[in-house]
Amino acid sequence: MDQMTKEAIRYLGYGKHAVDEKTLALISDSFRNLEDAADKRSIYRIFDFQQIADDRLKIGETEVQSKSLGRNLRGCSGIVLFGATLGTAVDRLITRTSLTDMAAAVVLQACAAAVLEEYCDECQAEIGRILGQEGLYLRPRFSPGYGDFDICFQEPLMRMLDCAKTIGLTMTDSYMMTPTKSVTAVIGASKTKENCHTKGCEVCDKKDCIYRRNVPVT
Ligand code: SF4
Repeated sequence: MDQMTKEAIRYLGYGKHAVDEKTLALISDSFRNLEDAADKRSIYRIFDFQQIADDRLKIGETEVQSKSLGRNLRGCSGIVLFGATLGTAVDRLITRTSLTDMAAAVVLQACAAAVLEEYCDECQAEIGRILGQEGLYLRPRFSPGYGDFDICFQEPLMRMLDCAKTIGLTMTDSYMMTPTKSVTAVIGASKTKENCHTKGCEVCDKKDCIYRRNVPVT
């Protein structure tokens, strides 16, 4: 079973329970349909970074207050802002499917999330390769809404990336992204190599890492 299928099964909440043949067939159909519908686009830009206090950061000209992001970015010398989307046709495919087959639409949602995650990992690996030539190493992605990094920071991130023009990504007043299968994130770049896990701190073995992002905020 490939990694994306495993991810989709995890998103569907199967946990350790066996997945039935019918669901597996739906998953493989979903990936095929998503392959045709997706118009993957991404953008990244590099900004100066300043840590004013544990929970006060400056990314370019934007001030951010967040203890969990502050911990994750400690020691970084630059910041990569990143945005990615699967495009509007994926949303249309999910809506169309939900009108006739709700079970298939639920599977499609999970598969789309897995495709987006894998695409972000590929993009991040490529950014890491480019910045690696300058002796910089990336920390895991950190998106607005994660920990105490307020969802409202999605707005300046998207503005700094010029997301509407560059990848066709916009946002409603309630921070819903259009297309919905999209991501914005902050990625720290540090001169110190941490061997960060591509799948993020949650699956990383370095349990005592001081930059760990999933420690509850105190
Ligand atoms: S816990 Fe692992 S993935 Fe997270 S910052 Fe530390 S080394 Fe990187």
